[in-house]
Amino acid sequence: MNRLGIMGGTFDPIHYGHLVGAEMARSKFNLSKVLFIPSGTPPHKDRSDISAAGLRYEMIERAIQDNPAFDISAIELERKGPSYTVDTLRVLREDWPDHELYFITGSDVLCEIFSWHEVEEILKMTEFIGAARPGFDASDFLLKVHQEHPEAQGRIHYLEVPALAISSTDIRARVKLGEPIRYLLPEPVRLFIQDHGLYTEEGSAL
Ligand code: ATP
Ligand code: MG
Repeated sequence: MNRLGIMGGTFDPIHYGHLVGAEMARSKFNLSKVLFIPSGTPPHKDRSDISAAGLRYEMIERAIQDNPAFDISAIELERKGPSYTVDTLRVLREDWPDHELYFITGSDVLCEIFSWHEVEEILKMTEFIGAARPGFDASDFLLKVHQEHPEAQGRIHYLEVPALAISSTDIRARVKLGEPIRYLLPEPVRLFIQDHGLYTEEGSAL
């Protein structure tokens, strides 16, 4: 059975934390492809000023162009209203019938999954790969899964990756303050941010 990795997020902007997590998961779990799926209206974000979907999409395209195992999907951008992971997974199950699904998250997001809409359904459709993220220790969460969610046993995997304390929030703040972001994300993405004046006072969101 082939395995499809799914990397969901806001990606405002995409950075090396996302790319390293996806690549390590691909290699460790033998994923034939990793699909980056930018969210439309994320139910778990309180920012109302997220950059336009088209801009976030274009930045992902630039970031993944040199990795043949990485691809992008606009399914959450095309859907109206909040994009729930469960709905996305239903579509992916249909579109990739001969693939097992592996949803890749950072450890911050992994610890929240039991608050997600229809999490029981989600866990039937996909396994999870939680990549270590500096500042987010998932050990208490993993212990709790073991004790309180036996049905999720064996479907939630923890993955140590080279720790990158990079976040989109920090990158947006740096741009706003005029601090460097070079080497935190792929150069074509940095140039895109610069050319479009993103994350500045006059440009789009911080
Ligand atoms: P923001 O600061 O706006 O929340 P972010 O950097 O957390 O942005 P998201 O788009 O929220 O990026 O994250 C998408 C996915 O990538 C999430 O599962 C998140 O946990 C994971 N992720 C983000 N940054 C890292 C990182 N540095 N290391 C590992 N995983 C990461
Ligand atoms: Mg985040």
